[in-house]
Amino acid sequence: MSKKRRPRKLETRITIGIFLTLFSAMIIYLCIYVHNNEQVLMSNSYNSRQKILAKENLRGSIYDKYGEVLAYSENNGSTDVRIYPYKNLFSHVVGYHTKGKSGIESFANYYLINSNISLTEKAENDLKGVKNPGNSVYTTLDTNLQKIASDSLGMFKGAIVVSDVKTGAILAMVSKPDFDPSTVDEDWDKYLAMSDDNSVLLNRATQGQYPPGSTFKIITALEYIRENPDSYKNYRYTCNGRYTNGADINISCFHGSTHGEEDFFKSFAKSCNSSFANIGMSLDRDKFGKTLNELLYNEKLPLDINYNVSKLTVDSSLSDYDMSQISIGQGNATISPIQLNMITNAIANNGILMKPMLITEVVDANNMIIKEYKPEEYKRLLSEDEATVMKELMAEVVEKGTATKLQSEHYTAAGKTGSAEYNGNSLDSHAWFTGFAPVDDPKVSVTIIVEGVGTGGEYAVPIAKRIIDAYFGVY
Ligand SMILES: [Zn+2]
Repeated sequence: MSKKRRPRKLETRITIGIFLTLFSAMIIYLCIYVHNNEQVLMSNSYNSRQKILAKENLRGSIYDKYGEVLAYSENNGSTDVRIYPYKNLFSHVVGYHTKGKSGIESFANYYLINSNISLTEKAENDLKGVKNPGNSVYTTLDTNLQKIASDSLGMFKGAIVVSDVKTGAILAMVSKPDFDPSTVDEDWDKYLAMSDDNSVLLNRATQGQYPPGSTFKIITALEYIRENPDSYKNYRYTCNGRYTNGADINISCFHGSTHGEEDFFKSFAKSCNSSFANIGMSLDRDKFGKTLNELLYNEKLPLDINYNVSKLTVDSSLSDYDMSQISIGQGNATISPIQLNMITNAIANNGILMKPMLITEVVDANNMIIKEYKPEEYKRLLSEDEATVMKELMAEVVEKGTATKLQSEHYTAAGKTGSAEYNGNSLDSHAWFTGFAPVDDPKVSVTIIVEGVGTGGEYAVPIAKRIIDAYFGVY
């Protein structure tokens, strides 16, 4: 009797065994998946767990680097109110917490809605009928620098990024026009109805794509050094105010200026369009395209905050006309202020780009550190030798070029201006500046764009001066 049943029992056991193994594997896989994707799962605005957490916990606070409160929540009995004490000042970088969220409110959401206080404390709160205090985040932002940057931009549209070149810490990030994050719900329809040009919600510092104008000569110059490491010093050009090549290439120096006899350094310091079109035409377009990719074009940036990728492809199929335009930062070339700031940081930091940082610590309600972020190398964008030459070039722009307004008796500085034409009209230009200080041991970098005002030397450099003065405590 048993002889007949045994094989069936064995079969059943094997089947159960297989199922148990599969089931355990699934459970293990699910645990690993949830563990690895916890932040992603939690950050999904539609995830119901978030709603449960929002009921149990009071959203945590966001602080600047010195502990100034930039955002906090209060429970008024029936609802939670989010308060932004600085109103418009941090609108894009701190962001808003409703309507899908933006800025730090969005990417640090996981921490802000959780509470790491002890179970005893949670039980006590439960008995008292109060919510658990959520975890808070400390940021790299410096309220004083943010205020000076914002005030300097004034009523103009544009963006400013200030960062620490050695750590990648973002000290200030301004985008205008701005908004009050506490009234986003009420103003939402009005904001959505705005055209792209006037968009208030767009973070121009990270999502704005602008013609780089002459700031792009940083990239053209780097490529020239790469292709002519031993002979760039021998470069000579005579500028008569205009570069022509064939029937359709006709590039003028800014506002009809004539620069005369130039070497490579003077061409850069004076921002001579004719000389840079001449330099650009000599470059290997496939190699130039490769350098663009190394300078973070056409790829994801190491940023937690919402941003847009700057796209630009150069290869041997590019026409002479397009190449001459791109060499001076016009034509199809665009860039975001944050990307230009990252390139500037890499030059200042001997070629190595530090990963941009906005959060340094996550703490619970008792100020116990839950997570700490350390400065991290992202990657090398250029060699140390190339960075040395680029620093010299940029220092001469302040010493005797288009950014002399940045000279100070308290520190040395280096950079590049830009006056980027748009609307195909040489009278309409965005004012750019990107640079760092001091020259020998760079600490701080600033990247500025002021939309539609005129030249970088006239309008963006004085803003850089105010910010760098404030950074070094010079008033
Ligand atoms: Zn010129």
